[in-house]
Amino acid sequence: MTLTSVVIIGAGQAGFQVAASLRQGGFAGKISLVGDEPGLPYQRPPLSKAYLLGKIKAENLLFRPAAFFDEQQIDLIHDKAVLIDRQNQRVVLESEKALEYDHLVLATGAHNRALSIPGEHLEGVFGIKTLADADALAPRAKAARNVVVIGCGFIGLEFAAVAAAQEASVQVIDRGERLMARAISPQMSELFLKAHESWGVKFHFSQAVDQIIGENGKVTGVEKADGEVLPADLVVYGIGVIPNINLATEAGLEIENGIKVDAHLLTNDPHISAIGDVACFPCIHNQGEHTRIESVPNAMDQARSVSARLLGKAAPFISTPWFWTDQGNLKLQIVGLSTGYDSTVTLGSMETDQFSVLCFRRDQLVAVESCNRPGDHLAGKKLLSRPPELTPREARKPDFDLKAWEVAHRS
Ligand SMILES: Cc1cc2nc3c(=O)[nH]c(=O)nc-3n(C[C@H](O)[C@H](O)[C@H](O)COP(=O)(O)OP(=O)(O)OC[C@H]3O[C@@H](n4cnc5c(N)ncnc54)[C@H](O)[C@@H]3O)c2cc1C
Repeated sequence: MTLTSVVIIGAGQAGFQVAASLRQGGFAGKISLVGDEPGLPYQRPPLSKAYLLGKIKAENLLFRPAAFFDEQQIDLIHDKAVLIDRQNQRVVLESEKALEYDHLVLATGAHNRALSIPGEHLEGVFGIKTLADADALAPRAKAARNVVVIGCGFIGLEFAAVAAAQEASVQVIDRGERLMARAISPQMSELFLKAHESWGVKFHFSQAVDQIIGENGKVTGVEKADGEVLPADLVVYGIGVIPNINLATEAGLEIENGIKVDAHLLTNDPHISAIGDVACFPCIHNQGEHTRIESVPNAMDQARSVSARLLGKAAPFISTPWFWTDQGNLKLQIVGLSTGYDSTVTLGSMETDQFSVLCFRRDQLVAVESCNRPGDHLAGKKLLSRPPELTPREARKPDFDLKAWEVAHRS
């Protein structure tokens, strides 16, 4: 059947990309891009980094200027989708307007996990998800003297680095035992711990937060489970996200840690795809297990894959996952998924902040983490995009160079 109308719910990284790729690929039908945030679609990564430091202006966050949407005839609708009527292939919006679709793409992303403790709604307590959040936070971050960050994942630590650069006293609390524990090896955590400590950041590991304390509605401190109160005029939390599945659940789509899709990113309804942070897909880099990945490259690659399928070039989604984070002078790039690795080989030196960790599972390379070594990241990407043949024994040889090895073994 020829497609004449595609409706995309969610005008973030994945939703915007699928609309743009459809047009770029020659799709001549109607494209409706529905987003519940104000303004034009924008990129989120700088919100917890350069944008807060004032190094990037709001207009530089936009994927494309307003004229692009007119030129490409992408109907950007500022509204909220409230119902998917699968039987009649239409989406109902909050304004009660209805959009009919031949194909529907769900790109609804995720929302921040709430703290769920007393005091979480005090003035001066922030999560960072949207441009509006960052705009509200930026002046507070500049003025803050005592900052407490709850959660030491990517976003919490990016913010800790920003606050330390603005000369606040910064303390980070986390339930876990080390930095970014869900995503990186202990060796790389160690490098980031030392760097943050050198910027003056203090860490409280294996600690829960009992409550946020305030006076006259404003935050004044954070009480840990051991009773210690850390003074705070600003609290920022980053304790993970929850996929936005309500619409899909109510429509009876299959859910499994997000919207469950097949290898082609199709839901259990052949007229509906799901992509980006909300989609849980069979990942060949995670032994085929259903996996949800929260990253820009994943959102973009999945958007391109769905647009290619809608344009008649169907292929399973097999892109190699990769991630990055910028904290102070450290750029960490991760390619592959390091879940379940059983040995590591390190390259470079922690002292110079140029350091890589190669992660192996049963002698197979599964991930490359590199800090300030972009050559290792690129070589890792190439190695992991084909059946990996690098073994730990090879990588442990004196003077081993990942980039040179990749070039020498390229087929
Ligand atoms: C502060 C911050 C920093 C980040 N830094 C990095 C980084 O350095 N590197 C990296 O790879 N990734 C980073 N990420 C993650 C990255 O931004 C996400 O993985 C990516 O945006 C996912 O794209 P998405 O389209 O799935 O979701 P989103 O970009 O979140 O877009 C989803 C959109 O759908 C909208 N929506 C939801 N429900 C509805 C509805 N019913 N009707 C209409 N609209 C709806 C939402 O409001 C939102 O605008 C960061 C994220 C944040 C918040």
